[in-house]
Amino acid sequence: MSFVVRAAHAFDGQRFVPDGLQVQVQGDRIVAVRPARAPLPVGLPVLDRPDATLLPGLIDTHVHLVAGAEPDALSLDAGRSADQREQVVRRSLLQQVRAGVTAVRDLGDNRFAVVDRTVRDDEPSVVGSGPPITSVGGHCAALGGAASGVRALRAAVAERHERGAQTVKLIVSGGAMTAGSDLLLDQFEDADVRVVVDEAHRRGLPVTAHAHSVSAVQTCLTADVDAIEHCTCLTAAGIHTPSEVVDALAARRIWVCPTFGRLPTLPPSPQAIEVMRRTGMTLDARFAQVGRLYAAGVPLTAGSDAGIHPAKPHGVLAYAVGELVRSGLPVDAAVTAATSGAAEACGLATTAGRLRPGMVADLVVVDGDVERDVSALTRIRDVVLRGRLVVVSGAERSALS
Ligand SMILES: [Zn+2]
Repeated sequence: MSFVVRAAHAFDGQRFVPDGLQVQVQGDRIVAVRPARAPLPVGLPVLDRPDATLLPGLIDTHVHLVAGAEPDALSLDAGRSADQREQVVRRSLLQQVRAGVTAVRDLGDNRFAVVDRTVRDDEPSVVGSGPPITSVGGHCAALGGAASGVRALRAAVAERHERGAQTVKLIVSGGAMTAGSDLLLDQFEDADVRVVVDEAHRRGLPVTAHAHSVSAVQTCLTADVDAIEHCTCLTAAGIHTPSEVVDALAARRIWVCPTFGRLPTLPPSPQAIEVMRRTGMTLDARFAQVGRLYAAGVPLTAGSDAGIHPAKPHGVLAYAVGELVRSGLPVDAAVTAATSGAAEACGLATTAGRLRPGMVADLVVVDGDVERDVSALTRIRDVVLRGRLVVVSGAERSALS
C-alpha cells in the first residue's frame, strides 16, 4: 500500500520543520519526504492533518512487557502461566502502539518469554534484553536472571547472546520494586560488572545497567557500561551527583535513561514515596539533576519503565518527554530523546527514529503543535506501523486502511 501523510507541523527526529512535511509511504518504508506545501504525488491517497504534528514513531527505551501495571506488577508475573504471561505482553504492546510508540526496548523479561516470541503485525518492534542479570536474591531475581561468580556471569551473557537478546541488562544497585532490596546498596563489585561488560562487548552486545546509588553509578563508569537506567545518584541524604560523574557520562557518551513518565493523575508508587521520605530526595531535585546532565552534554533517552505499577502503565512515554522539558530540556531535545536518540541508544538508528527516505515507515500524528505545547504528544491521532495504518482517526479510516 502506498499513501501520503501530510501535516502542518512536523518533527523530523532531531528538529521541528517549519511549515510541516508530507511523508510518502510505500510498503513498509518511507520513500519520500517533502515540504507540506509541495505538490502532492498524483493518484495516491492522502491523510491530511492541517492542525497536527507529524513525527517519527516514538521509541520507549525502558519497558517491562511482562508487567501489567498492577501494584507490585513485577512480582505478580512470577505466578503466571505462559499463556497468562503472553496475554499481558500482548496487551502491553497494544497499549504502547495506541500511545504512538512503534518500538520498545524491553529490559525486564521473565526467562526469555519476550525474546522468544514473534512480534505480530499490529505490535511495536521489540529490542529485548532477556531477564536482567542480577545477584542471587537481588532486585528482579524472580525474573530468572540471578548469577554469581565470573563463570556464571559469563555464561549468563552467552545465553542471552545465543537466544537472540539484543542488549544485556545488568542490575548493579538494589531497586525499590523488589521487597527486601535496597536502592542504596550495590549488588556487584566493579570486577563483576567488568566481566559482564567484557563478555557482552566481545559478543557485540551493549550493556545497560540499572543503577540508583551514586556508588553503583561510579561502578558502571569504572566498568565501562554503555547505558545507565535511572542514574539517580542517590545517597542516604538525597541526590548527589559528583561533577566527575557528570563529566564522564558526557565525555564517554553513556546513554542515561532517567525513567520519567507517569500518569499525572496518580501519585508515584508507595515504594518511590518511601525512598523520597527516607532520603529526602524530591522530584524537583531529580528534575534539576537531569537538567544538569543535559546541560553538560550527557545523551538522554525517554524510557518510561512502563508496566511496573498503576501510575506507569504502558503508553506513558509522552509524559516522560514532558518531564524532560520540565527538567530544562528544549522541546526538540526532549522529543529527540524519544525518537532519533532513543533509536541510536537501542541500536535502531539505521531504521527508526527519523523521517527520512529509506527508513521503516513508523509514523505518529498528534493533534496540535508539539513545538508550542509538548502535551500534544498525548493526543494521538494516527499511527503508522511498518507502513500499515494501525490507528486512524476520522473518516479516512475507510479510504486508507
Ligand atoms: Zn525497569
